[in-house]
Amino acid sequence: MGYIYARWAMLTCGCGRWMHTQGIEELKGEKGVPRWFVRSECRGCGFMVGVDVPAGQEEGVVDRLIWTDEALHRLDRMPPYMAVLVRQEAEERARARGTRVITYESLFPSVTDQQIGWELEAERRLENVPPAVRAMAKVELERTAAERGLRRVTVALMEEVKAKYFGMSARQDKA
Ligand SMILES: [Zn+2]
Repeated sequence: MGYIYARWAMLTCGCGRWMHTQGIEELKGEKGVPRWFVRSECRGCGFMVGVDVPAGQEEGVVDRLIWTDEALHRLDRMPPYMAVLVRQEAEERARARGTRVITYESLFPSVTDQQIGWELEAERRLENVPPAVRAMAKVELERTAAERGLRRVTVALMEEVKAKYFGMSARQDKA
């Protein structure tokens, strides 16, 4: 594998074809500044190259929407129904922000501008969610609420998210 440093390049193989992005590794550079090691391959001749760029500078280097190795690993450890939800939302956010790279941190952006509260009943239901999933479910629900301009997570919102992504009937868990 070759190793080149590119800043304003359109990554092109010596044979004349565009290089295709294969994967990205998140690195810590000098003084902890994040960098990306972008792996690319020419589908024509099989030539492979790695490009080390400052994080966020994918222009001309990354040719499609792609998940970093770290983000993929994080996704792999989630329960399948949660992964579906997280994947879809992460890709929607990336497109909205005009970035092509989905990083570990970007999977769960913090809801910083506003504090989202919880209805008592919604809070009680969250306690019934298995611990392995609870933290992720909490973040997802709070973000969904924030995106809709809601100030609190409600049972109705939980039911809706569940029905949409978890494939369960909205009435199923009524006592
Ligand atoms: Zn080539």
